[in-house]
Amino acid sequence: MRFYSLKNSSQDICVLCQNSDNLIEFQVKPKDEFVLLCDNCISSIDEPTKDENHWRCLDNSMWSEVEAVKVLSYRVLKLLGKTDECDMIYMEEHIKKWADDIPSKDEVCIDANGNILESGDTVTIIKDLPVKGAGFVAKQGTSVKNIQLVSNDPTHIQGKVNGVKIFILTKYVKK
Ligand SMILES: [Zn+2]
Repeated sequence: MRFYSLKNSSQDICVLCQNSDNLIEFQVKPKDEFVLLCDNCISSIDEPTKDENHWRCLDNSMWSEVEAVKVLSYRVLKLLGKTDECDMIYMEEHIKKWADDIPSKDEVCIDANGNILESGDTVTIIKDLPVKGAGFVAKQGTSVKNIQLVSNDPTHIQGKVNGVKIFILTKYVKK
């Protein structure tokens, strides 16, 4: 299972801002490639103008050697209107194409049984899940109230377990 593993190496940091709290493996669509992102980045990645100060981290991440990181940095810079920076990111043709192929947001979020999940729903966790970066296991049978959908990522929801806001794979919950 690739999404939840206990934090055990210094490499567990957000690829954009280097934060190490509350990380999630984020799919850089439409490719099947994942990067670790933190809560802060996820919360404004679709509307980065909400938190322009945070996104100063792109001044570093845009120089990453990792293609998926370049692609994300490019997409956010573009949303921020920073076209000069976008032009500075060196991308081969096929990577540039990937960066410009921004997925639509209308995918639905479904639970283990195929039921549609919406923000505000209450779900039950159906499998013990070690939580990356939080140091505890979200136990099977735990009820999570008032879940939030994750923008741009129908494979996860956010909810509070043990008083901590965490990301949970939708395939391990049911309504
Ligand atoms: Zn981050």
